[in-house]
Amino acid sequence: MVFILRSYDEISGDLLRARYLLPGESGYCDMCRRVAGYIGACDEEKNEFEEIMLSKKFLPNSPTLMNAGSGKGQLSACFVLPVGDSIREIFETLKNSAIIHKSGGGTGFNFSSIRPSGSQAGFPGGKASGPVSFIKIFDSATGVIKQGGRRRGANIGILDVDHPDIIPFINSKRAEGRLRNFNISVMADDSFMRSPDDGILEIIAGNIIRNGEPGILFRDTVNRKNKVPGLGVIDAVNPCGEEPLLPFESCNLGSLNLSEFVSSGEFRYDLLKKSVRTAVCFLDNVIDKNRYPLKEIEDATLKTRKIGLGVMGFHDMLIKLGIPYESPGALQAAGGIMSLIESESVGESRIIAEEKGAFPAIGGSIWEFPVRNATTTAIAPTGSISLIAGCSSGIEPLFGLAYLRRHLASREYFIVHPLFSKALDSGFLKDKSGIISEAYSKGSISGLESLPEDFRALFKVADEIGWKAHIDMQAVFQDHVHAAVSKTVMLPEHSGTDDVIDAIYYGWRKGLKGLTFYRNKSRRDAVMTTGDGC
Ligand code: ADP
Repeated sequence: MVFILRSYDEISGDLLRARYLLPGESGYCDMCRRVAGYIGACDEEKNEFEEIMLSKKFLPNSPTLMNAGSGKGQLSACFVLPVGDSIREIFETLKNSAIIHKSGGGTGFNFSSIRPSGSQAGFPGGKASGPVSFIKIFDSATGVIKQGGRRRGANIGILDVDHPDIIPFINSKRAEGRLRNFNISVMADDSFMRSPDDGILEIIAGNIIRNGEPGILFRDTVNRKNKVPGLGVIDAVNPCGEEPLLPFESCNLGSLNLSEFVSSGEFRYDLLKKSVRTAVCFLDNVIDKNRYPLKEIEDATLKTRKIGLGVMGFHDMLIKLGIPYESPGALQAAGGIMSLIESESVGESRIIAEEKGAFPAIGGSIWEFPVRNATTTAIAPTGSISLIAGCSSGIEPLFGLAYLRRHLASREYFIVHPLFSKALDSGFLKDKSGIISEAYSKGSISGLESLPEDFRALFKVADEIGWKAHIDMQAVFQDHVHAAVSKTVMLPEHSGTDDVIDAIYYGWRKGLKGLTFYRNKSRRDAVMTTGDGC
């Protein structure tokens, strides 16, 4: 089969044309001008916002890029809706989620209030059908609504580990293709983690090995680190897990592309500081420019004014600095950069609070000084915006160096990572095409002993990096993030359930708010693939 070799720029251009550009816009610059012009409150802000976007140092989440200045104006990616136990409440939530999906957002739900299957419901002798049957209805509804004709909605369904239907819930995505529009996660508390039901853990781990689901969330960790405990307990997150939110809260995200802060082999902390400040102003403005899909969402969001500033292009940055992902140096760089983003973002939020006032619910929060936003930081997956910026996604290690990517549902492109390609050129290595061919067919260059060892270490890909190193990296970021970190712990193809159980405990002890796994090659419908290892 012949595949078309595509550059990052071509992929970004295709994606922009298919989903982001408005009629009359010809490319990335037009989009940046529209978005900055809409979000900026004065000329100075408009110019600053345009500059950080045009230089690809910062991008807000997709709904802001798609909808700002378009007349639609729903700008947030993340929502959580409460789910009651009555038919009226369940279908009210379904209606609200449809409205959110139409506007471009993703929804998270904890379905634990729904009574178990087989329990009394309706007329005497009537039997309840349980949370999993209702999740199927939410899934079908999501499949019908295409957001502005551009992409399908995303959901996460959560169930508490002590709900009587937990086993059918954990197995609900066992067959590939079921609940296509849902991620699922089990909400575990500390008492379960201290004395777990081994049977349940085995089933969770078995399903993770099979196809990467369910994820696991740690309720007590989330709530211990909740910045506004006065507003109640958090029991749900948005679809990719980076935003623990109260019922009806929404959050808008933005990501700094760390790769763009390296110049001549040095990381430019001075530029990063400045960009963090600009990005916080941008995201805080989004809250006021936003058109909320529901009154309850507007009220809940304006009470806490949460924003989620994070990073993308982290692995690209490490490669440019010559630091392998699985190394103490990478953990040190991650901690240094993220703690700076946290402190600068809080500093800026404080300055904005002096001018415009603190978030209204600050009385119920842990903040001891006025800040404009209850949270300022989160690490999003950046699935689409990293493609637009042409960098590695979020804080993930590279999936591959030469791989096939299914793009916009139908096309398949062959991609060679540009930093890898450049390194092969600059190293004057012979047989560039032979090395690329090995990187594709084996999924890695580790076996090429003719290549220098430090070169092979620098270009290790996600499934060659041990699960402990994945979790260590997530934990370092989590230490400096108010909300949470979206990260997939990649497991090598031959991992077993014991590895998963060990990893769950390791992550919980490290203070993570949740974990998501993927065992390499476990899904046939994977978006990115390398060869079959032959
Ligand atoms: P992007 O790169 O498009 O800005 P991310 O991959 O960073 O988005 O995802 C951030 C959040 O956006 C997710 O956690 C989820 O809440 C929401 N989201 C992602 N994809 C979709 C989708 N197809 N439909 C609705 N919401 C989505």
